Amino acid sequence: MKKTTLLILLSIFLLPGLSLQTGNDPYSSSRQTMVREQIRARGIDHQPTLAAMEKVPRHLFVPPDQRRFAYADRPLPIGFGQTISQPFIVAYMTQIIYPKPGYKVLEIGTGSGYQAAILAEIVEHVYTIEIVPELGRSAKKLLYELYNNVRVQIGDGYYGWAEAGPFDAIVVTAAAGTIPPPLIEQLKTGGKMIIPVGSPYMTQQLMLVEKGTRRYTTRSLMPVRFVPFTRSN
Ligand code: SAH
Repeated sequence: MKKTTLLILLSIFLLPGLSLQTGNDPYSSSRQTMVREQIRARGIDHQPTLAAMEKVPRHLFVPPDQRRFAYADRPLPIGFGQTISQPFIVAYMTQIIYPKPGYKVLEIGTGSGYQAAILAEIVEHVYTIEIVPELGRSAKKLLYELYNNVRVQIGDGYYGWAEAGPFDAIVVTAAAGTIPPPLIEQLKTGGKMIIPVGSPYMTQQLMLVEKGTRRYTTRSLMPVRFVPFTRSN
């Protein structure tokens, strides 16, 4: 066989493997731009958060018709009246709990599964609860394909996940009128919870809750707009 023929044959067989190895992801440059312009530029500097945002394929967490907007600076519809949060908000809520490798984190409001994936890149265990069964099922499928440290449950997150707790941190991604007491109970002493509090469909306050030995403190961080925290009944 001529040398050139051999080379052509070799490249046909080797190139697909090579492109997989180098992660031939058509969205990787959009993702880097997103992190640079929307996340770093707005003051997020927690390295594990930045690395996770650079790595997680956000386009897989949005419906196919939204894929071209996956890295845009805004929330996107994911069906059932719900949304995947704006990238900056996901980064902000992740950084504020200062997740560490050994952490066990609870998320309420799985939605697309994107926030859970970002957390799963950083911490040891992620537990996440979604009230809309269809969303919970599709997020579960995707998250279980990508991670082995995430557990997804379908149900009302108001009650938390007592069997898995207590948690180092809790991230709530739907706006509640008040902070659900079971979630405070399931937080470790010294643990942090980030939760949007306020009326549905109006501007809410993103609150940081820190649990001390005898009481907890709350601090308003910024105005936000989240989908409502709904209740099963
Ligand atoms: N973290 C999500 C954001 C999804 S929007 C993401 O990264 O895509 C918030 C989600 O909270 C919605 O999917 C909504 O159905 C869910 N939700 C609202 N109330 C809930 C409750 N009581 N328990 C669990 N999930 C709830």
